[in-house]
Amino acid sequence: MELVRTKDEVRRAVAGRRAGEKIIGLVPTMGGFHEGHLTLMRLCAGRAGFTVASLFVNPIQFGPGEDLESYPRHEQRDRELAAGAGVDLLFAPAVDEMYAPGCSTFVEETELGQGLCGASRPGHFRGVTTVVTKLLNIVQPDLAVFGRKDLQQLMVIRRMVRDLDFPVEIIEGPLVREPDGLAMSSRNVYLDESRRAAAPGMYAVLMRAAAQIAGGQRQISAALAAAREEIERKTGGRLEYLEALDNELAAADEAAGCAYLAAALQLGATRLIDNVRVPPGGSGDGPDG
Ligand code: AMP
Repeated sequence: MELVRTKDEVRRAVAGRRAGEKIIGLVPTMGGFHEGHLTLMRLCAGRAGFTVASLFVNPIQFGPGEDLESYPRHEQRDRELAAGAGVDLLFAPAVDEMYAPGCSTFVEETELGQGLCGASRPGHFRGVTTVVTKLLNIVQPDLAVFGRKDLQQLMVIRRMVRDLDFPVEIIEGPLVREPDGLAMSSRNVYLDESRRAAAPGMYAVLMRAAAQIAGGQRQISAALAAAREEIERKTGGRLEYLEALDNELAAADEAAGCAYLAAALQLGATRLIDNVRVPPGGSGDGPDG
């Protein structure tokens, strides 16, 4: 695996592979690799002849007072893990390589990114869509992989790619969990022992609520109200939101149109997000992924 820090080096490396008619794949990341990232990389490497991963803690997607400074940065470890997961080229630029001084152009999706995480993190998705646009322009991949862990981000990127005619296929990667059910996240390392032990409670409650909604045992509003109370009681955290959503991320008020339950939980200083699928008319006990 090659490590490069400039856009020119990426362009040169990719141009050679494209001339050799390889399919180019991209996995954008902020580093702090865990099995979730590595799963996306393997998925990409299985589909593409040349896999590029980006490792860039994107400052413009962090709000004031968020964890930009403390975000986990372990480049050497990440390099080794990426190489083992089939990445051919790791692009790890400095901030001033990505953003020229005085840069004043941004890309914004104006509907799907407004609610949920967008409501509490103003400017977050604008930062995401801008950096993903730049990465798509730099790498010009045939396909790019995003994890369902960040469900709203995945939907926003899909919408942006559709609306702006990016010639790229967006592939959804599965949501990878710890053995106890906690969704893997680079931010999980912030949790102290007792909060780490309590955190999987969110997933357990989400799964139960999804099964109740799918099986028709409970109305959505009642299931959500009970789940909100139980998640806060079990984890000791404060829910920012817990919503039932359809496939377009709109609020679902009937089980028939309900595709996901999605939540954001503030647990001490750590913000955790998670989502589960609501199986259509099923028992809710199928693999969530
Ligand atoms: P991040 O480094 O957190 O910006 O994430 C980079 C990519 O990895 C995004 O597409 C995320 O959705 C994805 N990702 C993060 N956590 C997980 C996970 N637990 N399972 C699957 N994909 C994940």
